[in-house]
Order: sequence, then structure tokens, then C-alpha cells
Amino acid sequence: SAKNAGRNQYQFYKNEMTSEIFEKIIMKQELTDALKNNEFEVYYQPQIDIKMNKIVGAEALIRWNHKTLGVVFPNDFISHAEETKLIIPIGEFVLKKACTFMKYLNDTKLLEDGIVAVNISNIQIKYSDIQKSIIKELEETKLNPANLEIELTESYIMEDIEESLTILENLKNLGIKLAIDDFGTGYSSLNYLKQFPIDKLKIDKSFANGLPFNKKDVAIAKTILALGNGLEIKTIAEGVEKNEQKEFLQNAGCDEIQGWLYSKALREEDFIKFIKEFK
Ligand code: C2E
Ligand code: MG
Ligand code: MG
Ligand code: MG
Repeated sequence: SAKNAGRNQYQFYKNEMTSEIFEKIIMKQELTDALKNNEFEVYYQPQIDIKMNKIVGAEALIRWNHKTLGVVFPNDFISHAEETKLIIPIGEFVLKKACTFMKYLNDTKLLEDGIVAVNISNIQIKYSDIQKSIIKELEETKLNPANLEIELTESYIMEDIEESLTILENLKNLGIKLAIDDFGTGYSSLNYLKQFPIDKLKIDKSFANGLPFNKKDVAIAKTILALGNGLEIKTIAEGVEKNEQKEFLQNAGCDEIQGWLYSKALREEDFIKFIKEFK
């Protein structure tokens, strides 16, 4: 009957809600424990200058070595970390690790001018003093600020252009570099590119995927590259897996490539091996 159906539905919603709340509580506890037990690890994916055929740096990408699940990827936990604001201490951990590792690569001349790129969540900027954290890690690790790049998304800028301009100018004044991640995928305006101190546009892998045959991806990639060239902002294509994608990007004037064609994200020792074997 309708009455029963109604009751069942209520029951369904109730269970659904309860399990969602439980999941949140469990994730919060799991993430807190993971931080305490040192279960997070930072991997590094090489970034290659395709004009010079040279490794210019790496993006720091977090992994979670879970006791029972094995390696857990960020798409499965970053949103929970953001919701619980645990992304703030987790982000500090990533920053510390990344700066320490790049300082080592710079000093040993394994990657003398190498730059490490660190993803920063909107939550970190909105709910913590990101400038203070960056200054702290730069001081503690003694990494040259010019060798640190932070990756932000357009969504952060678009939320409040005035405020983000102030914050990004302050960050730029530290001497670090700023990159826009997943460029072209968000709700955005090109207008901010005029005013913001941006060093690099990262062409999202959803566009790189279709190169060189998908006409629409070709048009979008070319437009982003022209924009970068005209505004004197460096360009990097993410998610490049095939040589034909690289060749297209090379001919179209893209500066750098990051993708499985060269390497997946690597643990520190494997990244060092990659540098030594790169030709
Ligand atoms: P993202 O910043 O856009 O990073 C690029 C993602 O593309 C990485 O996934 C990388 O492993 C993957 N990728 C790179 N090259 C290829 C390729 O050739 N083919 C394919 N299929 N994938 C490729 P990952 O490491 O799973 O990270 C996913 C997202 O999680 C990142 O996207 C970033 O938004 C977020 N993330 C990762 N680490 C951190 C972190 O430390 N802090 C924050 N806030 N977010 C992070
Ligand atoms: Mg990124
Ligand atoms: Mg990206
Ligand atoms: Mg992404």
C-alpha cells in the first residue's frame, strides 16, 4: 500500500542518512589516525620541458598507504579531508615533504634548478593561514622560494576575485610560483588572467586525451597555448600518454609535459632513479 511504501521510503532515507553520517565519522577518524601513524606518502611525477628535453621539476601527489586497503589514491579521500578540514594538516605535511625533497634534489644537483609543484585546496586558503604555512616550510627546509610552485584551481579565484587577488599577490611576493591546475575545466573568466600573477597554466588531461585527432580538443588546446604565449605564461599539458599527443603539443608550442608517456608519479627513490636514467 501507499502507506507502507511511504514508511519504507522513510526507513530508506533514515538508513541512508545514518550511514552517511557514520561514513563521515569513520573517515574523520581514519584520516586523523593516518596522519598520526604516518600513513601518507608523497609521490612525484616528473615534468619535462619538451623544448630542451629536460626534467624541470615534479608535481607532488599524495598517496595513502592504508593498513588494509593498500595504496589509496587522492580522489578517494581528498574530498573527505576537505570536508573535515583535515586537508589543512595533511596539506602542511605534503608541503613539508615536497620542500624537503626538492631542497635535497637542488643541493645534490640531481635537479639543480628543479621546481616542486604542490596542490593547494581551496579549504587550506580559506580556513588556514596558507602564507604563514608556506613561509614556515620554506624557512625550515631552506628551499629557495623560486623552487616552489603552488597549484590552485580557477574555482578558488572565481569565488572571490578581489580577495584571491590580494592573497595571490602576497604569495607571489614570497618569490614562489603560481600555477592554475585543470585549466579550462571550471567555471571561469579569462579576465582574471590579466590581473593575476600567474606563472603557469596546466592544460587538463581531459583535453590532452583527444589530441591530436579530436577537432574540439585540438581547438581548445591550441587556444590555451595561444593564450599562454600571448600572456607570457608557461604552459604544461597533463595526462599525456602517447607520443602523438606529445608531438602535437610540441608543434603547437607547449612548454612542458607531465604524463604517463614519461612516468607515473614515483616514490622518492624511484624519482631519483628516473632522473639518473633520463636522456
Ligand atoms: P591533479 O592535481 O590534476 O593531478 C594530476 C592527476 O593526473 C594525478 O592523479 C596524476 O597521477 C594523474 N595523471 C598524470 N599523468 C597522467 C596520465 O598520463 N594519465 C592518467 N590517466 N592520469 C595521469 P592523482 O595523483 O590520483 O591525483 C588526483 C587529484 O588529487 C589531483 O589532480 C589533485 O587535484 C588531488 N591531489 C593530489 N595530491 C594532492 C595534495 O597533496 N593536496 C591536494 N589538496 N590535492 C591533491
Ligand atoms: Mg595538480
Ligand atoms: Mg590537474
Ligand atoms: Mg584534478
